[in-house]
Amino acid sequence: MTREVVWDHGVSLPGHRLWLDPLVVRSFAFISHAHTDHARRHKEALLTPQTLALIPDGRRPRGWRMLGYGEPMRRGEGKVTLHSAGHMLGSAQLHFEHDDGSSLLYTGDIKLRQARAVPETFVPKANVLILESTYGRPHFRFGDPDSTVEAIALWCRRALDGNVTPVLLCHALGKTEEVMLALAPYGFEFALEKRCAPCARDYAAAGRPLPPWVELNGDPVPGRVVIAPPVGKDEIRRCLGRYRTALISGWAKDAEFARLFGADATFDLSDHCDFDELMDVVERSGADQVYTVHGYTEDFARSLRKRGVRAWALEKNEQLALAL
Ligand SMILES: [Zn+2]
Repeated sequence: MTREVVWDHGVSLPGHRLWLDPLVVRSFAFISHAHTDHARRHKEALLTPQTLALIPDGRRPRGWRMLGYGEPMRRGEGKVTLHSAGHMLGSAQLHFEHDDGSSLLYTGDIKLRQARAVPETFVPKANVLILESTYGRPHFRFGDPDSTVEAIALWCRRALDGNVTPVLLCHALGKTEEVMLALAPYGFEFALEKRCAPCARDYAAAGRPLPPWVELNGDPVPGRVVIAPPVGKDEIRRCLGRYRTALISGWAKDAEFARLFGADATFDLSDHCDFDELMDVVERSGADQVYTVHGYTEDFARSLRKRGVRAWALEKNEQLALAL
């Protein structure tokens, strides 16, 4: 039993009493990062200090075991080590090394290529890889992050020069703050829609100071770059005069999806891996068994099989037990 991985509303290593981002409340579970689709009120959670700081009070686990990157922790017949996943502040991959030499890597949401001269995300070696495959179709190929940031900065500058307010549509937690940091060298001042403001405060409190910003309060904000979530633009319509919107998301690569948001422009800056980066994660891990979770799981597993990698979409397996 100690060598099993099981899928049941989440991945578990039953022999080691460890759940990985389970969708239902468990007694001991790893929370890979603070996005609400992963945070549950588990009895005890394993997470990084930054992830704990970014989880809103109402969603916090009842107890926790904080673990920094690279600090090994004994669990069952092996050890657990967390590594940065490059997805947002505090996001972590979980590496489980069994005492018999076998190993498993669970990526959580992961991003390899970083802007701002931040080194690429390190991928530990493992026999078994459980990989998020949000953008697991080949048409999701994103531009170089630094060039995209430069294009966003130029788009904002042109709007401001024409007395038009640039509005960047970004998810409130993670994307908003990372975009602010990426644009900081260009000297912009920011105004955040009210849903983004608490996340920005938490980000700064969790150890990543942000460039100066004010909260949108119904008054015009001339000369500032506005950041707002992609859905619900009522407040923007109410208080901004002339404005233009740009969707900042990997979904920019999907014309139909981009149209849904009704943005004037799109930029493919993502906090997830694109198709090629997902392939890179698989290669760097050296894994000979890959399980995909989230997004285009079937498509990406099929693409891996075509390249000779043993891969399966995990959601389709009601119960999965494999050697670890
Ligand atoms: Zn996420």
